[in-house]
Amino acid sequence: MQLSNVPACDLMKLVTVEMTYLRLFLKEEVTGILLHEIGHAFNPDKQKMEGEFAADNFAKEKGFSTWIISGLESGLKQNLMGFEKETIRQRIEKLNGK
Ligand SMILES: [Zn+2]
Repeated sequence: MQLSNVPACDLMKLVTVEMTYLRLFLKEEVTGILLHEIGHAFNPDKQKMEGEFAADNFAKEKGFSTWIISGLESGLKQNLMGFEKETIRQRIEKLNGK
């Protein structure tokens, strides 16, 4: 399906993912990443770290906290773009409820 053929309305949000990138993660981590991205769509008003925390919280509420943490650690270990050490430390701390 072509994106230009998708009917749009005000209630729709677009979540985009890099498919090649997702192959570098375990399937449960991919689910966690997708939930995180959906979490961003539910919190469009939250920016920067506030937005990351809100998106992580959405994935956590769906029971994927462990897999978000695992995915963050994996991304950091693989030196992937967008996985910055201090940011990840803060997100993991928040996910662990500290
Ligand atoms: Zn995010």
